[in-house]
Amino acid sequence: MTITRRLFMASVASSALLTRTARAAETAEVIYFGGPILTIDDANPRVEAVAVKGGRIIQAGSASDVMKLKAGDTTMVDLGGRAMLPGFFDPHGHMTFGGLQALSANVLAPPDGEVTDIASLLETVKAWAAANADMTAKAKIIVGFGYDQSQLAELRGPTKEELDTISTELPVFLVHQSGHMGAFNSKALEIVGYTASTPNPPGGVIQRKPGTNEPLGILEETAFFEAAPKLLGNVGPDGLLALAEAGAKMWASFGYTTAQEGRSNAVVDAVLRQAAADGRFPIDVYSYADVLLGADYVKGAISKSYDNGFRVAGAKLTIDGSPQGFTAWRDRPYYAPIGNFPPGYVGYPAVTNEQVLTAIDFAYANNLQILVHSNGEAAHDLLIAALRAAEAKHGRGDRRPVLIHGQFQREDQVQAFVDLGLMPSLFPMHTFYWGDWHRDHTVGPALADNISPTGWYRMRGSRFTSHTDAPVAFPDTMRVLDSTVTRRSRSGDIIGPAQRVDVMTALKAMTIWCAYQAFEEADKGSIEVGKRADFVILSADPTAVDPEALDQLLVTETIKDGKSIFVRGQKKADLMRPRDVLNPGFYEMFKQLYVMRQLAVLPESHQSPETRVLIEASYDDCAATLLLPWLFGLDEHYQDVAAN
Ligand SMILES: [Zn+2]
Ligand SMILES: [Zn+2]
Repeated sequence: MTITRRLFMASVASSALLTRTARAAETAEVIYFGGPILTIDDANPRVEAVAVKGGRIIQAGSASDVMKLKAGDTTMVDLGGRAMLPGFFDPHGHMTFGGLQALSANVLAPPDGEVTDIASLLETVKAWAAANADMTAKAKIIVGFGYDQSQLAELRGPTKEELDTISTELPVFLVHQSGHMGAFNSKALEIVGYTASTPNPPGGVIQRKPGTNEPLGILEETAFFEAAPKLLGNVGPDGLLALAEAGAKMWASFGYTTAQEGRSNAVVDAVLRQAAADGRFPIDVYSYADVLLGADYVKGAISKSYDNGFRVAGAKLTIDGSPQGFTAWRDRPYYAPIGNFPPGYVGYPAVTNEQVLTAIDFAYANNLQILVHSNGEAAHDLLIAALRAAEAKHGRGDRRPVLIHGQFQREDQVQAFVDLGLMPSLFPMHTFYWGDWHRDHTVGPALADNISPTGWYRMRGSRFTSHTDAPVAFPDTMRVLDSTVTRRSRSGDIIGPAQRVDVMTALKAMTIWCAYQAFEEADKGSIEVGKRADFVILSADPTAVDPEALDQLLVTETIKDGKSIFVRGQKKADLMRPRDVLNPGFYEMFKQLYVMRQLAVLPESHQSPETRVLIEASYDDCAATLLLPWLFGLDEHYQDVAAN
């Protein structure tokens, strides 16, 4: 932290103190009024108006009290019946990777998009590229996700010449809904280096113009998977800055005023630090660096305060895989797994016992926070043993270790985690996206009810947080809220009625408890005098609508430090954000790239189809983030960073 920054923080802190005592002398820069204001402060749950000065809340209370702070130049913001809450605080997501999702045109067919034929596909991408010209220029690429020729009137994908009508200067890269093929314009093919003389790679096809060898623009399977990283590698460090910026803006558009980089490393942190220094982040961004990729780096990088809106907050450890992919490490066999699994298959750990014990001991010994991805019961048993050992050796302290996902838990494990002072960051969004899958395949109907067991934590008086793990899902706050409250699956089932919580509890799991999880509760997470003026404005009061309609609420405005940073527009070429699909092409493409990359670093004797299946099944967002430096051509850049 620079000296000026430190002085600034000190002056902010003292002015925050002053407002508590000498409030009468203050005048407000902005006053919000005219709608329900939910403070998420149990001592003062609803107020009529809020006054802001210097990016901080200077009054929150009755309209008459707050209006006393009004001066001639005070900006008055009439909520017009919309609801104001503290800004949402992301307890676990992957912002930079999410940026690629944010920087993509939506070329899905109805109902998730508007593309019905080649003409509407081209029009959609053109409109999107025009609306996001500054971003596409910085990222040096135009990307779209989700076209499907079977849904297009012509029953074929677009040719390179058709895509050249979008741009001849920038590469255009449209990913098929399957994630296994894509359409490229001439510039993109040029960057990739595919010409008439390029043979089809084994396991892939470069589609050709009829009667010639000239590429048509459509690439399939390995031809596609080998081309995609070359194209994304062309993006380079500058492009990654643009992705990070796009990610931050996307998080802001869902009402987040603090976003997480949930598994970073020295390279990604360097990019984020640069983006922050360049003033590209409208919101605060905090990161957790993979402890197995560099414990010393983590130790040296951690900071309690933000520098230009960025800080490294702690370490990240990943114990096992993904519950929907049957790679969460369980204490009992999977219920009815789909795939070639041996009898009694329980998944497996991604690390050794020793690595887990060492990493947790490292966190406790150095008094730092660690986020632990752990999904299956066996993974939790190991985590509990490691936490107990570290606590016995180093004492309880106040390190707030975090359980990430905790999808399958026994009730005794919930009790153990509560006893150990662990913060559970759960994933109730799973009840919507994969609830039916868990009921039918992973754990069966009885145990599916207890995935992300928010109710068990509340019974014990424990806080919890509710995350999106975006970009696995979009960082859609209203989907998080809805699924934490209703636990309704896509088929309409309620996955665990007893684990449901009320709307106010779910809101705490998106605000004040997230701030607590990140040691920022003195500054964020509720609307209280002295805290940051970070707000979200929703289309209606979430406590006053039918819970089944919570997902229909809209984030209409996001405010950071008293300044409006996102206002919902009516643009047709809005960012891609289907609400009910997981952007399958995006997910699948990165899974395949991940498998390709992971297989490539193994000795040839280990590159078997069985290994491939296991690697494929272990894929999730936390895993995908490991691809970033390689995918965006930062491996060389990494050497520089590591040397510094
Ligand atoms: Zn994650
Ligand atoms: Zn994860």
